[in-house]
Amino acid sequence: MIIIKNDEELDLMRQAGRVAAKIKHAMADMVTPGITTKELDMFARDMMREMGAKSAFKGYRGFPAYTCISVNEVVVHGIPDGRRIMKGDIVSIDVGVHYDGFVGDNATTVMVGVDDPEIVRLVQVAEQALEEGIAKAVAGGRLTDICHAVESVVVANGYSVVRDFVGHGLGRQMHEDPQIPNYGPPGKGPKLKRGMTLAIEPMVNMGMAGVQLLDDGWTVVTSDRLPSVHVEHSVAVMDGHAEILTVLDNG
Ligand code: MG
Repeated sequence: MIIIKNDEELDLMRQAGRVAAKIKHAMADMVTPGITTKELDMFARDMMREMGAKSAFKGYRGFPAYTCISVNEVVVHGIPDGRRIMKGDIVSIDVGVHYDGFVGDNATTVMVGVDDPEIVRLVQVAEQALEEGIAKAVAGGRLTDICHAVESVVVANGYSVVRDFVGHGLGRQMHEDPQIPNYGPPGKGPKLKRGMTLAIEPMVNMGMAGVQLLDDGWTVVTSDRLPSVHVEHSVAVMDGHAEILTVLDNG
């Protein structure tokens, strides 16, 4: 069942989204050659405490860190550790928080002095896919309009969408109905209604769509070890437009 949020709940979702966005942006600003992913995660832990937020990931099915940091061939769910960021890396930062009873969830992929134009293009295509997916989160449409919009951008540019992981509804919980694949035909699934809140999150691979789970039980890598980009926003379905909740200035 897809939970519709009333106006008061949407305001709380905006707050949670704003907190998640602030932490994500602050972490992205800190990404520089030499810093470890663990240091970035500790920064996020401290910032969550200061803001009165709680990581939505830490302890979730035993996940050991406050954020997910996924470098290069890591698709999602990278566990922050002693890995040092190097020039030429792409670093996906995924921040989910509980704040005042609601969840905000967002991710960005930061390029660290990337010279390779193909990697720059991969990041741009993922961002465009997210944007076009979000544009379909409008009351009166259908859920898979979002899925199809994301896939269309990716496929038209010669890349692959990951099929093993999907976006999701969110609200008081990090994962609510519906699941939101990054692929599929348009015009199917539940009708979108004002007050539905969705985490839309394309995972775009430069090479093949296949992924593997590493032995740590969390880290998802591309099967061909080519780079992958992950970007995400929490979005509210509104009448006539989609509202991005995970922004710095939503009230
Ligand atoms: Mg998510």
